[in-house]
Amino acid sequence: MTDKKTLPTEVPTLYIVPTPIGNLGDITQRALDTLNNVDLIAAEDTRHTGKLLSHFGISTKTFALHDHNEQQKAQVLVEKLLAGYSIALVSDAGTPLISDPGYHLVTKCRQAGVKVVPLPGACAVVTALSASGLPSDRFSFEGFLPAKSKGRKDKFLEIAKVERTCIFYESPHRILDSLHDMLEILGPEREVVLARELTKTFETIQGLPLAKLVDWVKSDENQQRGEMALLIHGYRAVSDDSLPEEATRTLTILNKELPLKKAAALAAEIYNLKKNPLYKWGLEHLD
Ligand code: SAM
Repeated sequence: MTDKKTLPTEVPTLYIVPTPIGNLGDITQRALDTLNNVDLIAAEDTRHTGKLLSHFGISTKTFALHDHNEQQKAQVLVEKLLAGYSIALVSDAGTPLISDPGYHLVTKCRQAGVKVVPLPGACAVVTALSASGLPSDRFSFEGFLPAKSKGRKDKFLEIAKVERTCIFYESPHRILDSLHDMLEILGPEREVVLARELTKTFETIQGLPLAKLVDWVKSDENQQRGEMALLIHGYRAVSDDSLPEEATRTLTILNKELPLKKAAALAAEIYNLKKNPLYKWGLEHLD
């Protein structure tokens, strides 16, 4: 490990330092060296970060920078950087700025000509995606799902026809409500992955058609606990059994009010399809 004040760069620098999302073994050597050698660590929660630092025997001073004071404190940090301090930015877990504070600080630093050096490291979005089995060539990270049902449904409507994998963060006490809203908008067949407690003892990565995933989460309270991300397969114009996703979604809604036979006949008429494949699909997928 290098001594204090001998970081590879002499110019004032803000280092963006990811920390583990559960497993302390995921901190990198470069993150430890940086945290050890900077003059100051800007942390989302200084007590939380204090525990991480003491675990690794690091005694660098910390400075609180969280959602509620970032706009104001960012200026103080920029001034310290311009005065020659080197500063590391950390959040409670994972990569700063990813659903975490730091955006204002980084923007101000760049505007002031302060060098910003990002360190690669743990991030729940990428960790979840890498093991989800969903297409990873194109994806979008959508942050936390809205807290209210209307906001969530609007969000799902917005992404209903998006063809790339969409990833959301969600809190455990809303997971079931969110999955129900998702089912209503995206239909029973959309493949969805729930990635829970990544890198921790009870890590679970479960991918199922949405209706089945809802049942699975409902039937096991443990699946409604801990930290979680939801990954949604992108829209496919034609579902695996060659029925347009729109048609199966409409059939699902109609079947809430009508017998399957009638619902299939109506959906067939709306989408100019044959009745039988829709009826057969309904027998296989709907209660
Ligand atoms: N900056 C972090 C990152 O790089 O992923 C995310 C911070 S955000 C405030 C916290 C949310 O990230 C959690 O509520 C959860 O949705 C997701 N998350 C964090 N750690 C996770 C884990 N170990 N497993 C699954 N999701 C996690």
